[in-house]
Amino acid sequence: MPRDPIVVVEPLKPHHHRCTECRRGPLRRMVLEFTAPVCLACADLGHLVYLPRGDAALTRRAREASELWAVVVRHNRRRTRYERQGILVEEDALARAEASCLADAEARARRRARDAERRAAQDIRFTAALTAEIRRLFPGCPPERAAGIAAHASVRGSGRVGRTAAGRALEEAAVTAAVRASVRHVDTEYDALLMNGVPRRQARTRVAPVIDAVLAAWRQ
Ligand SMILES: [Zn+2]
Repeated sequence: MPRDPIVVVEPLKPHHHRCTECRRGPLRRMVLEFTAPVCLACADLGHLVYLPRGDAALTRRAREASELWAVVVRHNRRRTRYERQGILVEEDALARAEASCLADAEARARRRARDAERRAAQDIRFTAALTAEIRRLFPGCPPERAAGIAAHASVRGSGRVGRTAAGRALEEAAVTAAVRASVRHVDTEYDALLMNGVPRRQARTRVAPVIDAVLAAWRQ
């Protein structure tokens, strides 16, 4: 059965308070024992170190590792309620908590690096497979051109055909669409037409015969 935490109060006016046991003051932090202020040393909390709020994981771990700990609160300006400022914990508990949070951060960083490596490897494998499929469907396509089309189509986050499910499955229509797009930009005047204000549909229609001719030649 968890008991209520020990509460340490940061008074708004420290110089108004003196320890009722050792008479020391002013008191920046104090414990109220039956409403009587007691300094942290007299309350046997003087050895604890302060951890300000803000890092939830560190706070939880430091608390769990600390045999003795206390919540630090302060009255808000209107004195309507106490606001949590942080906790007081044992120094070695805080050190252990910091170490395990750091280990977690390092583990996360290592996992991110592994994920990135795996994704890069998958991308390389996928690009190679896409290149091979382009070469299978279009044997007349120069190898370096096929590799270029595949690399372009597989750029992560591009929304290009290599990033779609159909593209990833190397479906013929998706692979052909990638090749077609490349031919449109590289082997036709499509881009120049767009630059000259020709509407996209009209430009596509105009260059379609050229694309079809290139694809037909590459299919053999
Ligand atoms: Zn005292």
